[in-house]
Amino acid sequence: MSCSRPIDAAVLSDYWFALLADSEEGAVEEHLLTCDECGQRLREVIAIAEGVRKLAREGSLLMVVTDAFLKRAAEQGMRIREYAPPAGGRVDCTVTAEDDLLIGRLAANLSAAKQIDLCICNAEGQEKIRLRDIPAHQAAGSVVFQQPIGYAKAAPSETMIARLVAVDESNGEHLLGEYTFTHTRTIPGPAAW
Ligand SMILES: [Zn+2]
Repeated sequence: MSCSRPIDAAVLSDYWFALLADSEEGAVEEHLLTCDECGQRLREVIAIAEGVRKLAREGSLLMVVTDAFLKRAAEQGMRIREYAPPAGGRVDCTVTAEDDLLIGRLAANLSAAKQIDLCICNAEGQEKIRLRDIPAHQAAGSVVFQQPIGYAKAAPSETMIARLVAVDESNGEHLLGEYTFTHTRTIPGPAAW
């Protein structure tokens, strides 16, 4: 059993999320009717896609999100805590046991940036995590990201600095904005670390 024209994993994923054009969807469906090999690969793609979707829905991933994602989460009854420090500024923040999603909204002028990275730094400004080439609409004027809420709920009081960095073709970097989150733990009990 070997498929001569295996369907690309990205196409299978789009098929599962109903993102394909009708004509392409029809062709994929027809292929899957007769090809066990691609059918098996579709099941693997579904398992991964659903796993990622579940993590995103549960607020367990550090990731850039859209306003549509937040709207859907709110409609599903999730409690969203959002902080929007100004560029160059800081905000006092916390998380409570009832919160489901923890959101940071970073205002910046994105209009000239080709590639934008989101850097998460410690209180000293040392970069710890970098999300490269994040999806950002140049017209949006802000980047919205979710902090893993399980981490936040267990975290001690600490300061986190987020940076938006524009990266040009020659890998030069240009700071778009720096945002300080001064987190105070308000959930009782010992910190996990
Ligand atoms: Zn096939």
